[in-house]
Amino acid sequence: MTTQLPGTLADRVRGRVVRPGDDDYDEARRVYNAMIDARPHVVVRCAGPDDVAAAVRYAAETGRALAVRGGGHSVPGFGTADDAVVADLSLLQSVDVDPEARTARAGGGTTWGRFNDATAASGLATTGGIISTTGIGGLTLGGGIGYLCRGYGLSCDNLLAAEVVTADGSVVTASAEEEPDLFWALRGGGGNFGVVTSFTYRVHPVGTIYGGPMFFELADAPAVLDFFRDFIADAPREYGGFPAFQIAPPLPFVPEDRVGDTFVAVVSCWSGSAAEGERVVDRFRQVARPVAEHVGPMPYPALNSAFDPLVPPGLQHYWKAAFVTELTDAAIAAHVEHGARVPVVNSTMHLYPINGAVHDVASDATAFGHRDASFAAVIAGMWPDPGDNEANVRWVREYHAAIAPHSAPGGYTNFASADDAHKAAENYGANHERLRELKRRYDPGNLFHLNQNIRP
Ligand SMILES: Cc1cc2nc3c(=O)[nH]c(=O)nc-3n(C[C@H](O)[C@H](O)[C@H](O)COP(=O)(O)OP(=O)(O)OC[C@H]3O[C@@H](n4cnc5c(N)ncnc54)[C@H](O)[C@@H]3O)c2cc1C
Repeated sequence: MTTQLPGTLADRVRGRVVRPGDDDYDEARRVYNAMIDARPHVVVRCAGPDDVAAAVRYAAETGRALAVRGGGHSVPGFGTADDAVVADLSLLQSVDVDPEARTARAGGGTTWGRFNDATAASGLATTGGIISTTGIGGLTLGGGIGYLCRGYGLSCDNLLAAEVVTADGSVVTASAEEEPDLFWALRGGGGNFGVVTSFTYRVHPVGTIYGGPMFFELADAPAVLDFFRDFIADAPREYGGFPAFQIAPPLPFVPEDRVGDTFVAVVSCWSGSAAEGERVVDRFRQVARPVAEHVGPMPYPALNSAFDPLVPPGLQHYWKAAFVTELTDAAIAAHVEHGARVPVVNSTMHLYPINGAVHDVASDATAFGHRDASFAAVIAGMWPDPGDNEANVRWVREYHAAIAPHSAPGGYTNFASADDAHKAAENYGANHERLRELKRRYDPGNLFHLNQNIRP
């Protein structure tokens, strides 16, 4: 093993190399999940693909683990590790929109908030997540579920090209024409195949949407979930939205005496005309009377950032995921029982529909392995006080165990925790074997292993 001093690495990169003892080391080593307290060997604030390549080579040369950090949202904290070389992409956040071609190219460390603001200036958007602080990197590489996926497919379905630093430090372009196998693997195979320094997406005309959250009494939860299941099966594709269990935060639209109570919520996003959206969303009011709601026309980026304050950096995170092929009455009963016990205002369960444009793409056309699902459930435990870890982890595990008999074997890799690593085959689903073959070709030494790992 050759050892090189970080000083040598600093000579090889344009960005900054942050080391233990530097004033900004503690800030540079932090990731979103405060449960993760790793002390990396260096954090390379990469200024471009060459810096990423230098970090990749340095990790390989020194035999250290390489951690790649985009938005830093990974629940298992894959964006850092003890003694690792961290390739931090947070400086790579430029977004270039081509409104004529309806494409947008964004740096590998861009967050959805930044991406959406740039595309919204031209009345355009693509499928991103529910929260604006999540990185486009990890989210897209794992698939990408969000408000717009019924209309426009997963985030990865909108990926046209990626600039990638591979395990040997080369910089390549992956698209339908160039490196098509790598391009296939990037669309659902997570960070297993390389470091993406820029993503080029197809973008769509989405300006003002009609939507927002509605809170219903827990007693109405069976009826609301039952209605949602039938409604979403053939709802117009302009509708993106999901049911959730949520403690009401202290917001102006929540009656003061109901703050802190638990509700079943429906969060809607209608990307067609406001008048039509109003009619569609009104159907939920025919099922039950909302206790509180904040629904109306708003710019898409406003909805995409509306829940950011509920999930600030620095919370403890423990999540579990499940795909559902058929949402049975028994599954709904399990959700009602465990959703009602959500312990803190930051925690939640979201039940995202997987249909519409996501089902237009063949199961083997991209690496995302669960196109046969109709819902993706995430039980997202997020709480401020480490003293509450045991109770919150227990809630997530018990909830997950209760829905497991009614779920498909795998869950969405982007919602999985570190203790789901043994479930890679189920979680990558139908495409796991081809992913392993391509892993052997593109990363035989498994340099990119700090992720939901596909073993070569
Ligand atoms: C509050 C919150 C809300 C979320 N909401 C959604 C949602 O609505 N929809 C959804 O689909 N998911 C959602 N997620 C899950 C999210 O998709 C994953 O956590 C994702 O991995 C985060 O990506 P990141 O770049 O922010 O994270 P990071 O921690 O930086 O990276 C996560 C993984 O991706 C790899 N990676 C990141 N960027 C790159 C890159 N440019 N090239 C190569 N590898 C890279 C990392 O190595 C790591 O393995 C949410 C997560 C959180 C914490």
